[in-house]
Amino acid sequence: MGSSSTRAVTSKMNIENDNRFSDEPGVADGLMDGLNRPIHDLRVSVTDRCNFRCVYCMPKEQFGKGYKFLSKGELLSFEEIVRLVRAFSDLGVRKIRLTGGEPLVRSELEKLVEQLASIEKINDISLTTNAVLLTEKRARSLRDAGLGRVNISLDALDDETFMAVNDVGVPVQKVLDGISIAAAAGFDSVKVNMVVKRGLNEHSILPMAEYFHGTDQILRFIEFMDVGNTNSWKNSEVVTAAEIADMIGTRLPIEKIPPNYRGEVANRWRYLDGGGEIGIIASVSEPFCGDCSRARLSAVGKLYTCLFAADGHDLMGLLRSGVPEADFSAKLTSIWRNRRDRYSETRTTESVLRPKVEMSFIGG
Ligand code: SAM
Ligand code: SF4
Ligand code: SF4
Repeated sequence: MGSSSTRAVTSKMNIENDNRFSDEPGVADGLMDGLNRPIHDLRVSVTDRCNFRCVYCMPKEQFGKGYKFLSKGELLSFEEIVRLVRAFSDLGVRKIRLTGGEPLVRSELEKLVEQLASIEKINDISLTTNAVLLTEKRARSLRDAGLGRVNISLDALDDETFMAVNDVGVPVQKVLDGISIAAAAGFDSVKVNMVVKRGLNEHSILPMAEYFHGTDQILRFIEFMDVGNTNSWKNSEVVTAAEIADMIGTRLPIEKIPPNYRGEVANRWRYLDGGGEIGIIASVSEPFCGDCSRARLSAVGKLYTCLFAADGHDLMGLLRSGVPEADFSAKLTSIWRNRRDRYSETRTTESVLRPKVEMSFIGG
């Protein structure tokens, strides 16, 4: 990201342009935040637990044996999640992504998917997973319940590097099996996400690109982000989107292509030889706050309006207090109207150190 970590403010946002999202179905006339961004996308964390200890997300030193995870009663129930999603859908949300922690550690996830799919205005349900618990039976039942898209995280193709990332000894083949199972289950799309951290796995960029080149799975590279406070993030450990594109381009020539829709998180590149496309999520070096229409719901029902927020709004408390539906909706409306988050565009050396919610708590 070059010098952007020490830059006081970078203004990339065009907040004058009222029609930025007018090509997004259902959002043109919806609720806008303080910087004129609609609420379109809700990421729902269904658990804070995970079967991995990725060093950039849940390092063992912080999430070791003594760590106290949430009890079942502290989590939002499926019924509560569905109530919340319905309320959000009335305000403009159309896309739901289930995440975690590892969402597949939550039992009967397909029942949640089925209920979410029955909400009229929700037209896209996806899942982000490490895929270790994705059996053929589970993949089929998730698809039958209405899960449309699956993103699978895989950070290397050799066991030594991958085990150094997941830190629990899971071999690469376990995740490759999960990718094959997802591909065979007939989801609308299966994408593969690779977080790149310098000194950890940047040597896996080319092998990963070559492996997925020419397949149906779009590989997306993600810059290492300063989410939370436990991953000891350093600017020098970010392999930038430009570096990633250069590295791939030397072996497999690529060219940039336009986004599929306004606010798409990944920059798209296509292989000149017809081998498909890749994505690069440049959240550090080329922040995209100006188009951010995403809200996040933690497993305990707190609403975060930014991935880098210190705290969220307690929606579970509100729900459990029996607040009338109209008051609840007014509260959500007021939270979104007052939103002015644009952390990645204003990142400073100091802000990196400020208290922030952990990624495993609110999901990617
Ligand atoms: N456990 C699931 C998984 O890994 O796919 C879902 C939750 S995980 C928090 C969601 C995504 O966030 C994953 O693709 C993961 O690689 C990414 N992620 C976690 N920590 C990150 C960090 N510090 N920087 C960039 N991406 C990160
Ligand atoms: Fe678990 Fe996903 Fe975080 Fe890795 S990135 S520790 S798999 S939640
Ligand atoms: Fe959205 Fe916050 Fe990320 Fe900016 S930093 S894109 S506002 S989540």
